[in-house]
Amino acid sequence: MTEFSRRNLLGAAAAGGAVAVAAATDGLADGQPPFGPTPPVLAGAQLPSFRFQLGAVAQKRWDGGWAKEATVAEFPVSEKLAGVLMSLAPGGLRELHWHANAAEWAYVLKGRCRVTTIDPKGHSQIADFNAGDVWYFPRGFGHSIEGIGSEDCLFVLVFDNGYFSEFGTFSISDWIGHTSPEVLAKTFGVPAPTFANFPKSEVYISKGPVPPPLPADPTPGALNNGALTHRYQLLAQRPDVYPGGTNRLVSQRQFPISATMTGALMRIKPGSLREMHWHPNADEWQYYISGRARLGVFGSHGRARVEDMSAGDVGYVPQGYGHYIENAGTDDLDLLIVLNNGEYQSISLTARVAANPHLLLSTNFKVPEATFANFPKGERFMPA
Ligand code: MN
Ligand code: MN
Repeated sequence: MTEFSRRNLLGAAAAGGAVAVAAATDGLADGQPPFGPTPPVLAGAQLPSFRFQLGAVAQKRWDGGWAKEATVAEFPVSEKLAGVLMSLAPGGLRELHWHANAAEWAYVLKGRCRVTTIDPKGHSQIADFNAGDVWYFPRGFGHSIEGIGSEDCLFVLVFDNGYFSEFGTFSISDWIGHTSPEVLAKTFGVPAPTFANFPKSEVYISKGPVPPPLPADPTPGALNNGALTHRYQLLAQRPDVYPGGTNRLVSQRQFPISATMTGALMRIKPGSLREMHWHPNADEWQYYISGRARLGVFGSHGRARVEDMSAGDVGYVPQGYGHYIENAGTDDLDLLIVLNNGEYQSISLTARVAANPHLLLSTNFKVPEATFANFPKGERFMPA
């Protein structure tokens, strides 16, 4: 852990997160009145804020789309994961690029897009993504994303490095624009003047015609797919059902290429909660899609913090920190959860307590053994 993070997590220099630059224009705001006073910190020293209002950040705009991001620069606690909200118009193209220091995990919230990828073995894939689909690109793999269909495509990108910036990545136009025509001519085997009108700086997002549908039955030999697909249909997965809601989980077990990240699409019913738990092997990045929530985080040494979250917000929980998510509204709470480990690990507080004799619990908590007579016998996950 860096000195920077130690300072922030201990709260000595807690900046407290977000600066609202502009009103949310994502169409994700829930239109409800503002929350009442934020619940008080329970006890002990202050923790930094685990909430960042990504929805309220001003869009960086191009003809063809927009993006806004949350890295440690904007959201100091989020050291291990960064996030980006991006929208592409039909025909809008996030150009060919790669990321040097992070894998990319994404969830499509609205609309459709087409992704092209290449891996170090020369395998390439072109695939269409619909709302509810997930993609994963290992660190350094080349990719592009293009809006298709008739409406804007909105997606959440998550990177397993908080210092990552989507606005500081390796774009193909940027490289070609900063390489001599002679070298480009030798590389591509075409005359140097071919590159006379290529852009001299990064394009990032450009706008072109909506491409035709992919062939349903490609010509034999036309494809060079690798063994592992980059696409996983998360919303189409049959969810795990609990008394208080549902959960769809995608780890490397369900999605073999996703070696460094796990995702979950969680719905929590009004009045219910994702119970108190912690993750031994991962930090947790959250994107609140709809509804209202209360996120409770426990950071040891008497430090606990409870924050209200609403649509467009990002939440963050460092590895090992205790936490829970409570539906604090009257509608279903939908959120996306991304962990920076391909293996899903979680320990619930109810399971931890249930795995002990009542005598031990009596000694631990200094109350009579009978206190525990009606405690649950194991994990509850999402009680009603
Ligand atoms: Mn990317
Ligand atoms: Mn969690």
